[in-house]
Amino acid sequence: MALSRIHLSSPHMGGDEQALVAEAFASNWIAPLGPHVDGFEAEFAEAVGSPHAAALSSGTAALHLALKLVGVGPGDDVLVSSLTFSASVNPIVYLGGRPVFVDSERRSWNMDPALVEETLEARARAGKLPRALVLVHLYGQSADVGPIQAACDRFGVVLVEDAAEALGATYHGRTPGVFGKVGIYSFNGNKIITTSGGGMLVSEDAGLVAHARKLATQARDAAPHYEHTEIGYNYRLSNVLAAIGRGQLRVLEERVRARRANFQFYADTVGKLPGVEMMPEAPWGRHSRWLTTLTVDPREFGADREQVRVALDGGNIEARPVWKPMHMQPVFAHCEAVGGAVAEELFERGLCLPSGSNLRAEELERVAEGVRRVHRGATAFQAARHGGVPASAR
Ligand SMILES: *Cc1c(COP(=O)(O)O)cnc(C)c1O
Repeated sequence: MALSRIHLSSPHMGGDEQALVAEAFASNWIAPLGPHVDGFEAEFAEAVGSPHAAALSSGTAALHLALKLVGVGPGDDVLVSSLTFSASVNPIVYLGGRPVFVDSERRSWNMDPALVEETLEARARAGKLPRALVLVHLYGQSADVGPIQAACDRFGVVLVEDAAEALGATYHGRTPGVFGKVGIYSFNGNKIITTSGGGMLVSEDAGLVAHARKLATQARDAAPHYEHTEIGYNYRLSNVLAAIGRGQLRVLEERVRARRANFQFYADTVGKLPGVEMMPEAPWGRHSRWLTTLTVDPREFGADREQVRVALDGGNIEARPVWKPMHMQPVFAHCEAVGGAVAEELFERGLCLPSGSNLRAEELERVAEGVRRVHRGATAFQAARHGGVPASAR
């Protein structure tokens, strides 16, 4: 019998969601606003430690509004991490802005603070300061916010945080996403908690969050007739989905624990193989281990990242390369980039293993055994080539 597919990161309901959704049905609040939206916003704001939050239809929509509200417009340069998902960048382009990609540092795989300082200094001298900087917190780990925020403050560049992957992480005890002028989160199906699709925008600025809510509901002014003084969007989260979000939020800490336990299992098994290095946990906080990621050095391991991924796929296990850097993407080939070698190497060697909080022990073992098998096969092949026992005899 074929083995069932092991997914990278699948939804994991906590138990309260159905009752909360049933309540939305019972009260007939089947709308893009309602009491669950208000409740989800308040509970989320409390959970991440931000005074204000707006629930939206996706993380991408949240970032689009965030960038619009901090004034990004046609011709503006916006610094953004190169090693990320395209959704960190697309909203810059929706607004006519120009992404400028910044390389990663090795400690956290996130945007390199030294490069940010250098770039802002050089651009200040040239009179070409960017409007904003989108700082991405990748795979459940906070970037080194402190020095990047200081550099932004020094040069008057607005800091926007893409914390779509970082709910449950900490930076000096606080949740990434709350440090910049605006932060965004995602509740897409593969994220650490999910509403099937959804996002959140947070800010200390009450006026900004109120404006985000208005823009997200077709920018209706307060009038009984439909009065509009600016262009709006249809970006609000449904009350039904917000009900799911409230249930998910209750189990966030459990989800972080489960994902960190997955990571520990992989570190103790796969991580002991020659040439395998687990993604580091930077000293400034907790990595949520949303995804367990590692790098494979082909010379030491005997096979490269792609051979491992293909072999796992053959065993019906979904693994993925680390994000392909944005400066390598055809669609952004014309954009400026600062450095890029670190992101390129992480892409070439980096692999994300199945990391769902609902993985069972035997599934984790299947993944580990899949990786071990590739290593054993490769070393047997090398031994045979060097006059050892033929691979077929092992
Ligand atoms: C998932 C993700 C987004 C987009 O969130 P959606 O809710 O899917 O629109 C943005 N940035 C990063 C880094 C992500 O991983």
